[in-house]
Amino acid sequence: MRTKIVAGNWKMNNDSSATSALLQELKKANQTSNARRIVAPAFTQLAQAVKLLEGTTIEVAAQNMNAATSGAFTGEVSASMLKGVGVATVIIGHSERRSLYNETDVALAEKVAAALSGNMEVIFCFGEELSDRKSGRHFDVVSHQLKTALFEITPDSWKHIILAYEPVWAIGTGETASPEQAQEMHAHIRSLVHQQYGETVTTSLSILYGGSVKPNNAKEIFSQPDVDGGLIGGASLNANDFMAIVNAF
Ligand code: PEP
Repeated sequence: MRTKIVAGNWKMNNDSSATSALLQELKKANQTSNARRIVAPAFTQLAQAVKLLEGTTIEVAAQNMNAATSGAFTGEVSASMLKGVGVATVIIGHSERRSLYNETDVALAEKVAAALSGNMEVIFCFGEELSDRKSGRHFDVVSHQLKTALFEITPDSWKHIILAYEPVWAIGTGETASPEQAQEMHAHIRSLVHQQYGETVTTSLSILYGGSVKPNNAKEIFSQPDVDGGLIGGASLNANDFMAIVNAF
């Protein structure tokens, strides 16, 4: 059984007072779907968010972590530090981490392994660039990303993996993949995982779509058979928009 999930990646937005205001609104909002709701504030707001959301069903994720457990890594944060403030889910491989901080799939494989051995759940992001799509290489690029970063993990570890397909050309651009484009890629992803790991892993694997999901397009995207929810950037900063997306199932 695949879980429906809507996760909001706040990126480097929302200081302490904005975090408090947005979370108060989300706490009051009416949820009509049964989707898991996850918010991913900046590191500095994680403990605050965990505290504010105590006793609710809204979960908190981090946007990144380091593959090492401790040591001389200035500015970095480990899995156990995240666990220590009550965060059990982490986004790994977001396209901004890949493009701005040169995170490769090989380096991301190490982060995934570290997150799993720290008992964390991973939202693993990947997706092709516009040039890949234009040249028809998008399926190959996505296959390569997945195989390099994830295909060394054990079948059992997939219980702790959520995939987020995010075509880079659709992130923050207002240009969404069409529901058909999202569906064909999600079906491709599911079949790749199936070939490698089989039925048990695949039937319970949630694959989210990310890239300019908004209240006005969420329903159509989420109605695709292989789309299990969304990773939301811009629209997750507004409680009404985020909840409209959560309730779009
Ligand atoms: C994202 O950054 O993961 C994202 C999907 O952003 P947006 O929804 O703003 O395109």
